[in-house]
Amino acid sequence: MGARTEPRVGRVEIDHAMKVKIVESLCIACGLCREVCPEHAVHPKMQDIHHMYEVIESECTGCGDCLPYCPEPGALEEYEPTSVAH
Ligand code: SF4
Ligand code: SF4
Repeated sequence: MGARTEPRVGRVEIDHAMKVKIVESLCIACGLCREVCPEHAVHPKMQDIHHMYEVIESECTGCGDCLPYCPEPGALEEYEPTSVAH
């Protein structure tokens, strides 16, 4: 029947709008973010002679799990993707 359905704020499945990217000028390529990312969204990337990493935007859920592990402040940066497909 017509039971009231009130939105339950706090139980809403949040569609993370934010994502995380690596700021290569700050990243020391320690690889910790890659190890802790539950989505395996961090991939190695060959750049010059350095072994750098990159976050694949389509695989990153923006969960933020990687953020506390990064030893270099600012090397992992949250951002709002320009194209949010819905
Ligand atoms: S925010 Fe989450 S999904 Fe995105 S790179 Fe970090 S740990 Fe992986
Ligand atoms: S944890 Fe930080 S410093 Fe280490 S690879 Fe990831 S972004 Fe770079």
